[in-house]
Amino acid sequence: MGILFVISGPSGVGKGTIREALLARVGDIEDSISATTREPRSGEIPGKDYFFMSDLDFGKLVEQDMLLEWAEVYGKFYGTPREFVMKTLAEGRDVLLEIDVQGARQVKAKMPEGVYIFISPPSAEELEARLKDRGKDSLESIERRMKSFLDEMSYLPGYNYEVVNDELETAIHKVVSIVTAERCRIQNKD
Ligand code: 5GP
Repeated sequence: MGILFVISGPSGVGKGTIREALLARVGDIEDSISATTREPRSGEIPGKDYFFMSDLDFGKLVEQDMLLEWAEVYGKFYGTPREFVMKTLAEGRDVLLEIDVQGARQVKAKMPEGVYIFISPPSAEELEARLKDRGKDSLESIERRMKSFLDEMSYLPGYNYEVVNDELETAIHKVVSIVTAERCRIQNKD
């Protein structure tokens, strides 16, 4: 069996950037592509960044139990297609999920043997500054995300590792080290 790595944490904390860097540096890890009902942002490629779809089509995936987990994040739905994850792990390849805290909790309940990595911001102030800096979100959306922040931090005890994204390169290095260490565990070497 491959190892399931789950990167999660509050929105805007840098999970996406860490995921990209991890995929670039650790070659043999398979990226799970999520389904979502949100609009593509400029530069995003359907089928690579997300499977973009209507509420109706997302509802069908839920009904047919084709999602390993799903959650509503800031008014839009996001979910992890189940088959890709299960098939890839069964083939002995490692899988990476980058999902919100509600989704990570659902996956942990089903797959407690996975490796759960919580990315946290150095402080609430820093998180707010980053959300403003990245320019992806409206002011209203930033306020909403900040309100959710404390609630999202309360999920931390369910994780195996916490990586504070204080300095990006250091955080990436820590996550790469976690992947390396987990692959060296005796019980993972079958
Ligand atoms: P964004 O819209 O900025 O790409 O992502 C918004 C949030 O949704 C992020 O916290 C991201 O980690 C989360 N997310 C992305 N894909 C999934 C998924 O498949 N399931 C869940 N539960 N959250 C996801």
